[in-house]
Amino acid sequence: MSTISDLKQSISSSTAVQVVKDAIAKADSVAEYNALLSLTAERALDRAAKVDAGDITGPLAGVPFIVKDNFLAFGAPTTAASKMLESFNAPLQATAVERLEAAGAICIGKANLDAFAHGGSTENSAFGPTKNAADQTRVAGGSSGGSAVVTALDVVPFALGTDTGGSIRQPASFNGVVGVKPTYGTVSRYGVVAMASSTDTIGVFTTDAADAELVMSVMSGKDERDMTTLDDFFTPQLQPTSGQKIGLIKEFMTDDVDAEVRQSVNQYADRLRTAGHTVEEVSLSMLQYAIAMYYIIVPAEISSNLARYDGIRYGYRSSDVQTLAELYGKSRDEGFVAENKRRIMIGSYVLSSGFFDAYYQQAQKARTLLIDEFNKMFEQYDVLIGPVSPTPAFKLGENTSDPVKMYLADVMTVSPSLAGLPAISVPAGKTAAGLPVGVQLIGARKSDGQLLALAKSLEGAN
Ligand code: GLN
Repeated sequence: MSTISDLKQSISSSTAVQVVKDAIAKADSVAEYNALLSLTAERALDRAAKVDAGDITGPLAGVPFIVKDNFLAFGAPTTAASKMLESFNAPLQATAVERLEAAGAICIGKANLDAFAHGGSTENSAFGPTKNAADQTRVAGGSSGGSAVVTALDVVPFALGTDTGGSIRQPASFNGVVGVKPTYGTVSRYGVVAMASSTDTIGVFTTDAADAELVMSVMSGKDERDMTTLDDFFTPQLQPTSGQKIGLIKEFMTDDVDAEVRQSVNQYADRLRTAGHTVEEVSLSMLQYAIAMYYIIVPAEISSNLARYDGIRYGYRSSDVQTLAELYGKSRDEGFVAENKRRIMIGSYVLSSGFFDAYYQQAQKARTLLIDEFNKMFEQYDVLIGPVSPTPAFKLGENTSDPVKMYLADVMTVSPSLAGLPAISVPAGKTAAGLPVGVQLIGARKSDGQLLALAKSLEGAN
């Protein structure tokens, strides 16, 4: 896989136009993975010519990238992999895209995802599933499956994703690339299709941790159009702090977890020890409730965020209607996939009067206890580690008939999301069958730079 500096080298020895053309040709040559929903070739080549003419400059001048198709970007529709937004052309670009463009980077296309980012396999896309980069009979992971696969297949050196409960970390793990879910509020969510506003984050897939640092520092920082953004705290660290205290999460290393996944994580722990850090087992009692909390709070926020798609203002409108009620109902029925509707129904239920106290309120209280438990843990430990997912990439179709089984597979990623913590997935080896396995590094709020420095120091050390 090529890094950003490899690409910069190619640009200086040939041209940005040539590099962008090559990336587009590569994207076409891997079409069978169904990782991309559209290419923005015309706009990309136009910008590349401006780089060659010296009219566009910056630290990423001419470097091609791809965005998940829930980022508003020019040059192709923003579909969120849904029929609802199939022909929606963005009137503006997401802040994250704008910042990358201001640094000279060139968006060449839009990647497949689970419709509205609801899922963990990219099988919920209205435009067909994405195939895993290492094994085409397996899922890409999700919901940012397309972005992970284009990075793993070396179409581009980096791709943007969103992570609400694991959607960057899990596909990164399934495809063998680095995936960063930053501290909540690090990167503006302005211009990104909302899923669950209290846990949505913007992050990146890269080949290595150094590239992730670079892209994150370009994208992060305060944006007056997203009031949840934090002041810019993201600073890459050259060296990790030495002798860190690292906790290996016991609840994620039980016999239910795939043996090869556990082995990869244990090997990573050994490498941390060899590098002079201490690794010991830790236990967090609230983790067992995290899936239950997540699948109450997130659908509640989804049902509220998706209420805007009514067939009137923008998006898909059913034509076969007689009454206004039918227009709302049929447009939503035909524009959303089954998983979107399932979440709208769960969300509406847990927010309805009579059930609000029993479910939503309880889940929010439990979430506070989870946050407290993490905070206490970070008084004693610098970093927590564990697997990203209980298994390597599963077979296409294996979990589609059982939504609860699919939800349970998110057990290791949802907790940092609920607590707003930074968590990254870094490649930690492969199974005997050649499937990539990632390890998850979780840190205290705003320790993103520290996590990446630690990951960077271990790269190539195995
Ligand atoms: N798999 C999780 C879910 O289905 C996470 C999705 C996400 O982070 N967008 O909710």
